[in-house]
Amino acid sequence: MGTILVNDQFLDRVNGTVDIEDRGYQFGDGVYEVVRVYGGKMFTAEEHLTRLFESAEKIFLKLPFTLEELTARLEKLMDDNQLDTGIIYLQVTRGASSRQHHFPQEQNAVLTAYTKEVARPVKDMSAGVKAITTPDVRWLRCDIKSLNLLGNLLAKQEAVSKGGFEAILHRDETVTEGSSSNIFIISNNTMYTHPATNLILNGITRREILKHCANIGLQVAERPFTLDELKNADEAFMASTTAEVMPLTSINDELIANGAPGNWTRKLQEAFETGVEKECGALTETITL
Ligand SMILES: *Cc1c(COP(=O)(O)O)cnc(C)c1O
Repeated sequence: MGTILVNDQFLDRVNGTVDIEDRGYQFGDGVYEVVRVYGGKMFTAEEHLTRLFESAEKIFLKLPFTLEELTARLEKLMDDNQLDTGIIYLQVTRGASSRQHHFPQEQNAVLTAYTKEVARPVKDMSAGVKAITTPDVRWLRCDIKSLNLLGNLLAKQEAVSKGGFEAILHRDETVTEGSSSNIFIISNNTMYTHPATNLILNGITRREILKHCANIGLQVAERPFTLDELKNADEAFMASTTAEVMPLTSINDELIANGAPGNWTRKLQEAFETGVEKECGALTETITL
């Protein structure tokens, strides 16, 4: 069953309700985050919650709590549910109003959150996964982690229906990001990834990876790359809170290099695990090579 968070209330899951005119429900008028939990500890919580406040500000939604208050509530939610390894999903909507597109005079933001046990995808991280490419048909504010995900969902569904793990989105020839991840290639010992503009969501995992590159001696260029560069890359991987550093071994059923996860990708996976262990303690399950 489990306990869920509704604003500042901790409720039994069956007692949580949503107003039929909640703007999140009717319009997707809200923002969200997914925070990873390893061994009962939140990973990069401050980065995620800061980004939630930034997303909210970009849609002119004022959050009726501080970052510290939110952190305390999520800690309690995690403890109440005895979460070990999993995620916290949290969202904030502009609350209920009689159905109208413009914002109500008085905004009553609604915060909801719950936890879920989710294992690390160690098998996929060891072997690598397949991706497909599809046009990026989303709006021009992809820097906001908005509840409006139809563009992302249609792309992911296309990937899954073709036996893929992720859909890589592109505007004309330029690769932007994945349907719920950031995309990276490595060619001639340099890692490329789309810069953090309005065309991508600047992932927290992406930021972790950029920090690790300096330590492992991998050159970085935050510049857009093309579908052709992707196809001909030495290595490719995707990154997100739940997928971590996930090697991409084929794109549209064409192998990347020899079709095995690359050496730099392995080094980044190792660095990422070390970073997690520094913050959250020893991992119970690690990537096996
Ligand atoms: C959440 C998300 C990501 C990855 O961000 P993380 O903070 O690393 O989980 C990338 N792209 C999109 C579209 C996302 O929604």
